[in-house]
Amino acid sequence: MAIILDGKAVAAQIREELKSRIARLQQKGVTPGLAVILVGDDPGSTVYVNNKAKACAELGLYSQTIKLEASTPEKVLLEKIQELNRDPKIHGLLVQHPIPNVKDEAVVFDAMAPEKDVDCFNSRNVGRLVAGGNPLLPCTPAGILELLRRYKIPTQGKHAVIVGRSNIVGKPLANLLVQKKEGANCTVTVCHSATRDIPALTRQADILIAAIGQPRFIQADFVQEGATVIDVGMNRIPDPSTKSGTRLVGDVDFAAVEKKAGAISPVPGGVGLLTIAMLMVNTVTAAERQYA
Ligand code: NDP
Repeated sequence: MAIILDGKAVAAQIREELKSRIARLQQKGVTPGLAVILVGDDPGSTVYVNNKAKACAELGLYSQTIKLEASTPEKVLLEKIQELNRDPKIHGLLVQHPIPNVKDEAVVFDAMAPEKDVDCFNSRNVGRLVAGGNPLLPCTPAGILELLRRYKIPTQGKHAVIVGRSNIVGKPLANLLVQKKEGANCTVTVCHSATRDIPALTRQADILIAAIGQPRFIQADFVQEGATVIDVGMNRIPDPSTKSGTRLVGDVDFAAVEKKAGAISPVPGGVGLLTIAMLMVNTVTAAERQYA
């Protein structure tokens, strides 16, 4: 049976380690602050945004959630971002993706001050990331690297196969894993909807990461014996046996793959919690860099 990569425990460890950094900032009179802008009322996004505010409160960080109507003109959204860019209480800024009714999300992300961009969406930071620089790292990919590092999963020279090429997970993760750095230095393959014979590629993976949003897409026969499997997917499927009538599952058929993998992250209790923990880390790092 596979080792379970416990995102809850790792996230708790990360939060614990942050406390002394927060205390040091507070001694200088600085409380790290995060602003999250939510445009529209997508239920999934609303849950994520509320969880982010809750995580800030638990750590004693300052947080602001700005909820805007889906019909908000882009100009008003950009003005709000400029206001938060200037606000000294705010060190980290996030606009929840997807942003409804915006022609080009990049215009919105590029309006954020790069030093406050806590999910690495601003083009300047994306460029720095690709070039091996040191921007605040995108939260979900950074959480995955943290999970691998803390469970001492070797990465150097390993074949990492990522299924999914979104700007929020697949692409930045590929860019991080390919870098000639400790905790990376992988050979990386990225699969997507036009990839021919995905199982033939995923079976070559020492580290397999699924980030596609398709419930239980990765079956046991997609996985090499002993591989590390990271499940990023968060899919709500109907389940009449639960109170809400739905259940959260990942992109990996956990019950089947667990028997074959060497290590596997569960859903829930895996990458999702690390994403929020890394957002807290980035908010604190942003405050430290702005007050260094
Ligand atoms: P996107 O919808 O932006 O991207 C999905 C990617 O998967 C695309 O590259 C798409 O290919 C690819 N894909 C979709 N279906 C298939 C298929 N059948 N075969 C091969 N490739 C496929 O999703 P996100 O990256 O935003 O999210 C992916 C999943 O991860 C979701 O379940 C989301 O909820 C979850 N997520 C979880 C986070 C966490 O903190 N745990 C954070 C962010 C996301 P193509 O490009 O060709 O269309």
